[in-house]
Amino acid sequence: MYDPASDTIVAPATPAGRGGIGVLRLSGPRAGEIAGKMMSSLPAPRQATLMWFLDHNGQQIDRGIALYFPSPASYTGEHVVELQAHGGPVVLDLLLEAATAYGARVAEPGEFTRRAFLNGKIDLAQSEAVVDLINSQTRTAARAAARSLSGRFSDDVHSLIQAVTSLRIYVEAAIDFPEEEVDFLADVEIRTRLDDVESQLATLRRAARDGQRLRDGVTLVLAGRPNAGKSSVLNRLAGSDVAIVTDRPGTTRDVLREDIELDGIPLRIVDTAGLRDSDDPIEMEGVRRARAAMQSADLLLHVVDMTGPNPQATDLPDLPLLTVLNKKDLVTNPSSDATDTCVPVSALTGAGFDDLTRAIKRAVGAETVAEGNVIARTRHLDALDRAAEHVELGRRALEVEAAGEIMAEELRQAQNVLGEITGRITSDDLLGHIFSSFCIGK
Ligand code: GDP
Repeated sequence: MYDPASDTIVAPATPAGRGGIGVLRLSGPRAGEIAGKMMSSLPAPRQATLMWFLDHNGQQIDRGIALYFPSPASYTGEHVVELQAHGGPVVLDLLLEAATAYGARVAEPGEFTRRAFLNGKIDLAQSEAVVDLINSQTRTAARAAARSLSGRFSDDVHSLIQAVTSLRIYVEAAIDFPEEEVDFLADVEIRTRLDDVESQLATLRRAARDGQRLRDGVTLVLAGRPNAGKSSVLNRLAGSDVAIVTDRPGTTRDVLREDIELDGIPLRIVDTAGLRDSDDPIEMEGVRRARAAMQSADLLLHVVDMTGPNPQATDLPDLPLLTVLNKKDLVTNPSSDATDTCVPVSALTGAGFDDLTRAIKRAVGAETVAEGNVIARTRHLDALDRAAEHVELGRRALEVEAAGEIMAEELRQAQNVLGEITGRITSDDLLGHIFSSFCIGK
């Protein structure tokens, strides 16, 4: 996998701009050699060393800390050198120029992590978790990404793949060696293992769906008459200390979308109050975007003033609906209790907001999102869905048609699809597996 002839790449590892420190990272077979030329010598492996950084003509650029990680004990698995200079754009440009002058190539986006994957340092799901950790919008999402990065999600996927593989091998052995007289269609072992595969798969799908919610967030459409208390409900939901209320750039007036955090889940709120006709092109674009977001929204939150007449909601988007009966503090005996579709609250006192939070999470299928989650992506969910289909077809092949070959084939497909998640689709030597694990001919 590791290609020693590959280029040596270089790029700033810190964001553009000014800061106390700016890091330039080199990776590849010539990283040590090139960095050695950029300094008077190469520091000892893994020892922070104060060095002068020089340009191609030997002129001093800056003085900072150099770190050398010889292959394979580095982020990418290749030789890596990190130069910690002062964080100014010109300093980093000069360092970059020096490195390229000595033969390094400027890295492509994600290339360090791609090399880490290709060199087997991390798998595909972990590579994605690196990006998700950097981009996480909430603390819960960041912790979930760190958990995925540590391999928690990949380990679960891997143990599911093992379970599917060993079941397939068991089934194939029964087909290939009928003299063993395994009446596998009546075999309890097969059913037990199949049940186990299905239950692992179900658990993983739930975790992945929650993880995807944490990563991508949930879109909610807010509707209701003026003065029903929409803004007040929104502010309560946001909570004063965690609210990240941002005006969407490009719109000149009332916000159409706001981003808040609900129990760690990024919540995007589209406000229908802003959806009015206009001649202003910028405003029209804002409205167009808000309407587009509404199309893919997860839930409609309809805020109704309890003290007023109960208006029939009209012109509302066709989405799962949650009614928020607001201002219950003004009603002496609020008759209704919270249900899955209707929650009485007071945005003034905060009463009922625990119920509302729960109802929202339940309605968007993120009820179980909590500490301990992993991060996941739609790609993982798709793969798990497809794997579940194959397993289901496999069960049907077994139970309806008693077709062992078809079941084995479906399991093989499930295994391949699951392998896409971590990127380590293992090409196993099937017969070798059979002989070692099934004790044929004993
Ligand atoms: P919006 O037009 O739907 O966004 O409504 P606002 O959030 O601006 O609220 C309209 C008015 O109702 C304001 O004067 C709020 O203070 C008041 N209000 C909102 N929620 C409550 C509530 O739960 N109880 C009481 N008593 N007043 C509320």
